[in-house]
Amino acid sequence: MAAYDTIVVGLGAAGATAAGTLARGGRRVLALEAAARAGGRVRTERCGDGVVELGAEWIHGQHPSRVYDLAVQNNISVITQDLDFDVFRSDGTKKDVELINELILFYYNVTEHQSDRNESIAEYLTRKFKKYLAENHADLLSDEEFVENFLELMNIMVNNLMASYDWNEVSAISDYVPLDGNQYTSWHRHGYKTFFEILLNTYNNGLGLPMLDIKFNTDVTSISWPRDGTGDVVVTCRGGEQYTAPNVIVTVSLGVLKERHTKLFSPPLPEDKIEAINMISMGLLDKIVLSFDKAWWSRNMAFYWTVEDKRKLPEEDKWMAKIVDSTTPSGSSNTLTLWTCGENAKLVETLPEEVVKTKVVELLQRFMGANVTVPQPTSMLRSTWYSNPFTRGSYSYDNLQMIQHPHIRETLGSPLLDAACTPRVLFAGEATERTGYGTVHGASNSGYREAMRLLQPSKV
Ligand SMILES: Cc1cc2nc3c(=O)[nH]c(=O)nc-3n(C[C@H](O)[C@H](O)[C@H](O)COP(=O)(O)OP(=O)(O)OC[C@H]3O[C@@H](n4cnc5c(N)ncnc54)[C@H](O)[C@@H]3O)c2cc1C
Repeated sequence: MAAYDTIVVGLGAAGATAAGTLARGGRRVLALEAAARAGGRVRTERCGDGVVELGAEWIHGQHPSRVYDLAVQNNISVITQDLDFDVFRSDGTKKDVELINELILFYYNVTEHQSDRNESIAEYLTRKFKKYLAENHADLLSDEEFVENFLELMNIMVNNLMASYDWNEVSAISDYVPLDGNQYTSWHRHGYKTFFEILLNTYNNGLGLPMLDIKFNTDVTSISWPRDGTGDVVVTCRGGEQYTAPNVIVTVSLGVLKERHTKLFSPPLPEDKIEAINMISMGLLDKIVLSFDKAWWSRNMAFYWTVEDKRKLPEEDKWMAKIVDSTTPSGSSNTLTLWTCGENAKLVETLPEEVVKTKVVELLQRFMGANVTVPQPTSMLRSTWYSNPFTRGSYSYDNLQMIQHPHIRETLGSPLLDAACTPRVLFAGEATERTGYGTVHGASNSGYREAMRLLQPSKV
């Protein structure tokens, strides 16, 4: 008999929820995690006078949310965050900042709603934007350069939200369902890592879960499963170690599945699963976090690049013009986060630390204008979610093709059954959740879903 009832591959939100639920349900569980820590795309780091998040930052919605509920049940003071912003221009002047502010607010309002037709978010927002200008600022409609420049800004803002590469690829209708309550609740100085401590019972000096063994720094390289129903699933790791169990829950990201599924599974995945892996888009969103002696800014910032200033940037610095906002982490009082996405983020990941640091300070100085001197940061942290071989991206999004395949995420999340219809290889992770993809609560729900498939098969 195998030493474990279930092996869970990956200890992000999906894996930690699945492993914790099964272990609490009395199952013997082995979790294999490639990194040296739990959390996956949640990564809390010490920075400034507190903590910052290099991955997920907010609890998006509160009801019904396992993430929010666990924080509240453990008396953790999560706080809602104000995302108000000030507008700055790349020429350091205040020209038209009220107008730009108004148009950015218009953008935020419109993106809260879905289109009533099957179109890209680029088509949807461009249509709405031009209508808004016609009704409120008709004179601007003929200023083609301004309209074009603002549309470019909205493209980047959409990509910063969806982690997409270009707004023409993103569907303006999706099955994502926002949870009730505040959409930007933060773990504050506790850090999002606390969610994992609670799931794995290490919070407040907890002793872990007796039914759960965890092996970190363990990269799973192959999962061999008995389609005919005889024997166990065999999981092999990079060092050659092998573990067996009747079933395995695979929670690696869609990016990892895209890169590795042909080598990872034996026998190979069925065609419909491969189609789902190929069809669903994996996006990229990165953060550059600076810490300073003390905060010299007051609120979040939106950066409006003028056409002229974009043009003047040397070729090697063009990436700077695609950084259009900053937020203030609530886990510390003296840190600032700049955001970048898509191809730009991929490029920034390849640049040397010193170059990024120098250039983002240059960027901030440019926007603050001559009256403010931006101090040198005391440190910089940045995410590299694409270069990371265990994520290969940030989170998934709904592209135009997927609208013709409404059950594609269910297909990604459906288990591989043996000849006796017993689930042997189960799949969880944010990309498998139709209504909560791209979030921690969605990932956690998917882990719970698969744990319940094993604990209460008749109810799933
Ligand atoms: C920059 C950024 C900002 C975000 N902001 C938010 C936000 O504010 N709010 C929100 O709700 N969500 C946010 N998200 C999304 C959220 O972080 C993810 O949806 C969620 O964390 C995904 O969890 P998961 O368990 O599906 O996958 P992961 O967290 O990727 O977990 C998978 C685990 O599998 C491990 N693994 C991979 N390959 C192997 C292997 N071969 N062997 C063993 N282990 C392996 C990985 O190391 C990882 O730990 C953000 C993400 C990013 C990157």
